[in-house]
Order: sequence, then C-alpha cells, then structure tokens
Amino acid sequence: MKTEFSLAQLADPDIAEADKILRACVHCGFCTATCPTYVLLGDELDSPRGRIYLIKEMLEKDRPPTAEVVKHIDRCLSCLACMTTCPSGVNYMHLVDQGRARIERDYRRPLTERLLRAALAFLLPRPGLFRASMILARFGRPLAALLPTPKAGSATPALLSRIKAMLALAPGRLPAPGPSGGSVFAAVGERRGRVALLQGCAQQVLAPRINQAAINLLTRHGIEVVLVRDEGCCGALTHHLGRDDDALARARANIAVWLKEASEGGLDAILVTTSGCGTVIKDYGFMLREDHDYAAAAAKISALAKDITEYVADIRLLPAQQSGELVIAYHSACSLQHGQKITRLPKELLSKNGFVVKDVPESHLCCGSAGTYNILQPDIANKLRDRKVANIATVKPDMIAAGNIGCMVQIASGTSVPVVHTIELLDWATGGPRP
Ligand code: SF4
Ligand code: SF4
Repeated sequence: MKTEFSLAQLADPDIAEADKILRACVHCGFCTATCPTYVLLGDELDSPRGRIYLIKEMLEKDRPPTAEVVKHIDRCLSCLACMTTCPSGVNYMHLVDQGRARIERDYRRPLTERLLRAALAFLLPRPGLFRASMILARFGRPLAALLPTPKAGSATPALLSRIKAMLALAPGRLPAPGPSGGSVFAAVGERRGRVALLQGCAQQVLAPRINQAAINLLTRHGIEVVLVRDEGCCGALTHHLGRDDDALARARANIAVWLKEASEGGLDAILVTTSGCGTVIKDYGFMLREDHDYAAAAAKISALAKDITEYVADIRLLPAQQSGELVIAYHSACSLQHGQKITRLPKELLSKNGFVVKDVPESHLCCGSAGTYNILQPDIANKLRDRKVANIATVKPDMIAAGNIGCMVQIASGTSVPVVHTIELLDWATGGPRP
C-alpha cells in the first residue's frame, strides 16, 4: 500500500513503524474472510482491510478521527485472526494499537462513553475493587431483565445495555481469594526449576482455582512457584482501551519486580495462564523499544514469558490417572492461536493425558470476549458467543477447555456445559482434583 507520510512524520518511530506495516499490505483482502466483524456485518469498513485504510488516513492526515472512523475501529475485537490469514505478514496488531492510542488522544467521546471507559480502566486492573464491584453486581443481577437489550448496529451502544451485559457476566457467587503476592510454593521432591506465575487481575477474583491448579501441577513435578510480591496488572486491559501511558507504566513496574525476583531467587520462566495477558507481556520488548532505560529489560522479560502449556510441554508429566472417556471441546483463544501462534500444543497435551479432544468448527472465529469488548460492544459479542456455543455443541462435549479466563466467562454465559482451563484438566490427569 502506498503511503504519503512527510519526512517530519516519519521521524516519529511510531509513524515509521506504521509506514512499514502499511507498505506490507497489498490490498488482497484474504483477511476479510476470517474477520469476525466482517463475517457478521459484511461491511468493508468492518474488515481488516477497511480498518487499515481508516488508520492510514487518520495517521497521515494527523487530524482527530471522525465518529465514523472511531465506530469501525471500536468494533475491531483485536482478535488478530487477520494476522494469521495475511500472506504478506502485515502486523495488524501494532497498527490497530496505534489507531486506538491515537483515538484516545485526539477524539472526544460522548460523556457516558468516557465515564464507562474510565471506570473499566480503573476497576479491572485492581483486584480488590474488581471484587467489590462483582459483589455489587450480584445484587444488581435481578434488575438485568429490566434493562434494554443492545441495539444491533449501534455505534455506541446505550449505557444501560452495557450495564446489562456486565451484570450478565457477573458470577452468582465469588470464590474465596487465592494466595497473595510474595507466596512461594516449594517443589515436591528434588527441585528441577523455579518459575514466577502471573497472578492476573480478573482471573484471581473470578477463578483462583486456575492458578491453584497450575501451582499443584508444577510443584508436583518438581518446579518451585513464586507469586512475585508487588506484581500488578500486566497492562493488557488499558492497552486495549488505547491508554498507553497507563499500560506502559504497568509494564515498567512489573518488569522491575520480575527482574528483582530473577536476580535474587532465579527464574526459568514467567508463566501465564491467561493468554490475553501473555500476548501483551510477550510484546513488552516491542512496546518499550524506544525507552532507553527499559528496552533491554523489557526484551528480557518478553523472552522469559511463556504460556503455561509451553512450559508444561517441556517437563515430563506423571502418567495420566483418569479413564480417557471424557470428550473435551478445545476452544482456541484468539490471543493464544493468533496472538502467540500456539495452536496444537494444548490439544496434544490433553490428548496425551487421556482426554478425547475435539476441534470446534470455525475455531478461528472469536467468541466475542476480547478484553472489555463484551461490555463495550454487547450486540456483536453476544452474536459471536451464540455462534461459538452452537459450534461447540456440534461436537457434543462433556467439558469445554480454554486457556483464557475472558473466553471461559464469555462461553459459560451461553452454555450449561462446564468450561474449565486446560491446566485444570492436566492437573486432574496427573493426580490433582477433578475440576
Ligand atoms: S483483529 Fe479481528 S476483528 Fe479486528 S480486523 Fe483483525 S480479524 Fe477483524
Ligand atoms: S490479507 Fe494482508 S495484505 Fe491482504 S488486505 Fe489483508 S492485511 Fe492487506
């Protein structure tokens, strides 16, 4: 794609990067076929190719975007299916990240939209506040039926329909909190390794059982696990809302505490059980590439970050202890399959450990969770969830496995089939409790 940035614009490293990405696009449109919003809405401007044009215009003209441009960028799930499909290697992720940051900087959203986004950016990365808001949401659940359902095609869905979506996602009751930062779990038997386990934000409130399963499995196999003291949100939530200053500050703070832990106790890896977070931590090296104080450290942390299944695949697991009759529908989270290119590994681990694993039709299509997307764009998110649940039902599973809490909550809101994390099944198979 031809670009027309001025030399002055190209002196900005972000614009130079955008220029490189845009020039790689050859307009072929292969990406449209696998884009969930294009598949649903059929509008070129809701396809990757259309959005690439919109972002190009916005950056080249260096003017505040119009409401129309913002509507189509906001509808993007950042699922990155387009990156998997693109034959030219266009890095859509880094381009749309710039687009979102530019919108956040230059566009004044309606007041309710600003308030909602500010509330999400403030609450979600703070587990204490998020827990309190989930308890409040529990009391609000009976009111959800009275609120309006989201209107199809609306650019900024009404605040009440978004509150309805939030209430629908809130759990009936919350589990007790898991272990806190600073906890160290000793290896059983001879120590073969030492890892940090990301504590996560929403996940530690909604499903502490996931990291508990990871701790159980790892320690049982001789790996010491540390929950690093003073670790915070990885920044993924605010990064996807275009709030880059906040996201980068969180990245720097985590890099500092992880490097301290690595130098004091040694770390073989930083393990992540929420693939949405893993994709962003693996990108810290890029995000902080122009920060002279942090660039090298960020690259080091990105190299240490691993999805839990990558690490588990490299340790010899104890023989599987369960019958092998259970049919598991494996839901491939977008951040894992498109963001981190981890596709076969979780399924192979489950198969090797005695589960009958079924692929889900249209597995490349997002379930609609996508960070805060199911709150901000409830109409599209609900349609994608219903399509995902219908596809899952065709394989008649006993359980659904996924590697990302956002997908688990989203899918569970549309089915009665139990939804569990891949690591819970692997823990069970190697001697842990049944999830
Ligand atoms: S990230 Fe997903 S929703 Fe966004 S343009 Fe790419 S395929 Fe479409
Ligand atoms: S598939 Fe790649 S090269 Fe083709 S239009 Fe989409 S982004 Fe551009």
